[in-house]
Amino acid sequence: MAEKPDLLDMTLEELERIFVSLDEKPFRARQLFKWLHKGTTSFEQMTDLPATLIEKLNSGYRIERLVTLERLASSDKRTVKYLYLLSDNNIIECVSMQYPYGTTLCLSTQVGCRMGCSFCASTTGGLVRNLTAGEMLAQVLAADDDLAEHNKPSINGLVLMGCGEPLDNYDNVLKFIKLVHNPLGLNIGYRNITLSTCGLVPKMYTLADEGLNINLAVSLHAPYDSIRREIMKIAHAYSVAEVISAARYYFDKTGRRVTFEYALISGTNDKPEHAEELCRLLRGFPCHVNVIPLNEVKHLSRKRSSEDRIKTFISILQSKGINVTRRREMGLDINGACGQLKAAYLEKERG
Ligand code: SF4
Repeated sequence: MAEKPDLLDMTLEELERIFVSLDEKPFRARQLFKWLHKGTTSFEQMTDLPATLIEKLNSGYRIERLVTLERLASSDKRTVKYLYLLSDNNIIECVSMQYPYGTTLCLSTQVGCRMGCSFCASTTGGLVRNLTAGEMLAQVLAADDDLAEHNKPSINGLVLMGCGEPLDNYDNVLKFIKLVHNPLGLNIGYRNITLSTCGLVPKMYTLADEGLNINLAVSLHAPYDSIRREIMKIAHAYSVAEVISAARYYFDKTGRRVTFEYALISGTNDKPEHAEELCRLLRGFPCHVNVIPLNEVKHLSRKRSSEDRIKTFISILQSKGINVTRRREMGLDINGACGQLKAAYLEKERG
């Protein structure tokens, strides 16, 4: 039997159409939308809906509800990693990070990933399936619920940087971004949302033309095509120059500063000449470079650069006027990098 449609996955307009088909007043859709986006998971708790409507909703629809398999807080309690079970028994993970200005959730957009980056734990089993917008929203609501329970500030920022390549699940991701931006729901500003891509060039152009003004982070990780191809499969499809041109287009169209992510991998992309070439490529582009000391994954061979190499790399970028930061390594004690908690959980389950 086909699963009932998930109401969390629907826009207000879609809910209004459903209500018309159920012979109900469209304004009820607004009431339902507000309850859903507050994290209410049972129709019975929606006290302003009439009993007859609740009956209709119960018989034809469902609300996606994630089951928490693991909750791991870092020793400083500011980073919490969640492992969730979806209704089809797939497992996803996301991580909340508390900053002085609020809480940001890094969430997953796919189960697995087909991009095959050689340093990433999410990619080992390939792509299982895309997440729906409702399943992405369910991560935010479940994490928010947990934060409230632990008296932590609620989520006011999102990074689509967990498992999966967001631009490989374009329509659902766009729908999700519009859902969380809706003032009747979570009302998260576009400027507080960052989408991270490994560089799906045509979709970067499409996103720039949407007029959403969200932040864009691009995983560059190498200044030369030869090195990028060694560590990222996507580099066989698009060159470094094409990725940077698409990023420049994004900045020109949206005015939002683009961040280039650069994970330093020992002996691969961390030499001074790589830093020099990166400076040359980004000259005149008001962007930002986020240098990431690699979070080593147990079964993958890539190693983290030495502290000296990391410092030298950053100082070369600084000396050329490039806006550069070193990513704060939050939650290293709880398998902080994407895909690592799930991998550890599955390993434990297999005994
Ligand atoms: S780094 Fe991102 S795009 Fe690359 S395999 Fe991992 S999840 Fe996919």
